[in-house]
Amino acid sequence: MPMTDQPRIAVVGTGLAGCLLATLLARRGLEVTVYERREDPRRTGPERGRSINLAVSARGLDALERVGLREESLGRALPMHGRMIHSVAGAESFRPYSADRQRAINSISRAELNASLLDVAEKTPGVTLQFGYRLRELNLDTGQLSFETSDGHRRRPHADIVLATDGSYSAARRAVTFRQDFTFSQDYLDAGYKELTIPATPDGEFALDPDALHIWPRGESMMIALPNLDRSFTCTLFWPKADFAKLETDAQIRDYFARNYPDAAPVLLNLVEDFRQNPVGSLVTVKCWPWVHRGERVTLALVGDAAHAIVPFFGQGANCALEDCVEIDRCLDESGGDWQRALDTYQGRRKANCDAIAEMALDNFVEMRDRVNSRVFQAKTAAQHALERRLPGHYVSRYELVSFTTMPYAQIPDRMRRQNRATAATAAGLGVGVVAGGSVARAMWRRIRRR
Ligand code: FAD
Repeated sequence: MPMTDQPRIAVVGTGLAGCLLATLLARRGLEVTVYERREDPRRTGPERGRSINLAVSARGLDALERVGLREESLGRALPMHGRMIHSVAGAESFRPYSADRQRAINSISRAELNASLLDVAEKTPGVTLQFGYRLRELNLDTGQLSFETSDGHRRRPHADIVLATDGSYSAARRAVTFRQDFTFSQDYLDAGYKELTIPATPDGEFALDPDALHIWPRGESMMIALPNLDRSFTCTLFWPKADFAKLETDAQIRDYFARNYPDAAPVLLNLVEDFRQNPVGSLVTVKCWPWVHRGERVTLALVGDAAHAIVPFFGQGANCALEDCVEIDRCLDESGGDWQRALDTYQGRRKANCDAIAEMALDNFVEMRDRVNSRVFQAKTAAQHALERRLPGHYVSRYELVSFTTMPYAQIPDRMRRQNRATAATAAGLGVGVVAGGSVARAMWRRIRRR
């Protein structure tokens, strides 16, 4: 089939990426059917075990803006302007995310965001949503998808283009797992995660400062907390999986938290129940290539976590998945609607970027768990912010480039290397006056950064 004709498009999964992608495609005048294994989450409520809230930043917001959801999402978000580090002794120390203290990442309810994206998709002419459809098989030669429906039937629709947005354990990806040209890896961290809740206080207030992402760095374990609109906090405890099982009795659970998280323990009101009932989730990095596969009758493209699941320590998985969808839309613009060219360009542009954020996310685990506590790290962050203030636009921290810009992720490590060289040169006295500011200093900085 010539791909410039109207192809039959199937999107698998109505997570964040699936909904956005379906909407963007239907706005191009395409007919898109979206299949989701769950019942409509707007009716049934969120799945247990999925993260309750997400940190959404510049890339996610840019994507949401394209379907008119940026302002609505921000209106329901809680901005977090920095990290609040909690020591074992119970001391708190606030570290702003940006030198001007103005920039914030946004704590957004995953369920609400997904519901808004579903609403927009449903209202867009051309989108058909099919809930209770679990993909079991995809035949790349016949173009047939086989779904098990929640009423126990099999449905076997055909498609010309299948866009797999069915998450890190993608069923659609299984169609190509054993292809000779397909490289695939999934790496699990020893650490797993468990969600706990800090409810609002009896007088309806937040128990912690809602303007921060709270971190309790403890080396081998770490807990974080993000605020929710109902004035509760969702905490995520990261810990080697084997250690979760060591806390067997209620007393052991309480004692562990009292010793390691003494300021959180009194406000984790349902600690024992949460700890016992909430599952331990896995933290996986998925890498694979290629993302686009052609059979005789169908083209499959992997998108979002299905192509590149990453660990959550930079709060970028969803941001990155949404960015994929924007890129596909852009590539279709550039190719004049030629799907084959568009999908090749999409994977070519995105792979290096997604590999880069996967590495940065792993590195940020170490930063959050260990380095934020160290004096050297704190001094370095303070020095970086001083440079940012003196040399606005010239020195920008990695965190800011990732979270507050849409600079391609793959360019960030190189930019950091050049900045770090310049910082070292400055420290060595080459850039006299840089820290004091001024045009001579800025010129010297620019010269060093280009080297
Ligand atoms: P998913 O959101 O996983 O959606 C996949 C959809 O496909 C689901 O609706 C699923 O039901 C459906 N599906 C699955 N299998 C089938 C099938 N066989 N048939 C039909 N449908 C199917 N990212 C951030 O940007 N910021 C954060 O703060 C953040 N925090 C996180 C915290 C934790 C603990 C974790 C684990 C992840 C976090 N992430 C965060 C990452 C983020 O959750 C994912 O990157 C994002 O959800 C990926 O979106 P997606 O649409 O590709 O996949």
